[in-house]
Amino acid sequence: MPNPQPLIRIEDVDMVYQAASGPVEALRGISLTVDQGEFVSLVGPSGCGKSTLLRCIAGLRSVTGGRILVDGSPVDKPIPKVGMVFQAAVMLKWRSVLDNVLLPVELYGLNPRDYRDRAHDLLKLVGLADFAKKRPGELSGGMQQRASLCRALILDPPILLMDEPFGALDAMTRDDMNLELLRIWGEQQAGDGGPRKTVVFVTHSIPEACFLSDRVVVMSPRPGRVASIKSVAVPRPRTMATRVSPELGRMTLELYNDLAQKNLEEVPQTVS
Ligand code: ADP
Ligand code: MG
Repeated sequence: MPNPQPLIRIEDVDMVYQAASGPVEALRGISLTVDQGEFVSLVGPSGCGKSTLLRCIAGLRSVTGGRILVDGSPVDKPIPKVGMVFQAAVMLKWRSVLDNVLLPVELYGLNPRDYRDRAHDLLKLVGLADFAKKRPGELSGGMQQRASLCRALILDPPILLMDEPFGALDAMTRDDMNLELLRIWGEQQAGDGGPRKTVVFVTHSIPEACFLSDRVVVMSPRPGRVASIKSVAVPRPRTMATRVSPELGRMTLELYNDLAQKNLEEVPQTVS
């Protein structure tokens, strides 16, 4: 049954950057809703506006048309309800891993002392218990990305926005992180209004999007529009066996075809 009040409501959103070389239309007429507890992925060719859309949902950028509501309120600035993970683990290299994880606490004017235990718990959760006092430079890329996931989770936000968070990781670490993320999301908990987080996940990888998501949104080349939305009707919890299952394979192929179709349709427009 459709939720009368989706947690994220994107209504006919346009976004035009004012670049030095002139305006760049990044998004056109995007409409999408994400329910509480849902895991939705955005896929699409490079430059189609995935990061832009995520930044608009996070309140880091303003839309130039339409509007975005989170929990019923229009988004006009970053809010603690939303945790964001960027593609590169943006860590302050002169601060310890622990102090990096605590950064949002300071940014929102809260007392870091109240969050130290939680920060340690999170670092333990992602296997970094022994690295709290180290500097980011002493950690591998995968470990830094785990630490930035802790940072996004420190205020226990109900919404997690992730921009190609595992793109720079080797394949095995990425598989591990996918499973870890499903655990943090609350895959084992009940769906529909349960205690799960709501995740919007951007990726270049269609198999990754299918493996993780309830729904996958395919975006068209710039200006980004919603080309198709597919539900991934594959049972949870998902495991490594799910990854190689025929049903996930079929779904992945369907999405590849959607994307290829969309790219073909765009060709005449871009050459004319
Ligand atoms: P994606 O994440 O899908 O690769 P982006 O959202 O980063 O795409 O970018 C969408 C389009 O907007 C691209 O054409 C990009 O060049 C342009 N763009 C992104 N950021 C800016 C910016 N700060 N100023 C001007 N144009 C930008
Ligand atoms: Mg991007």
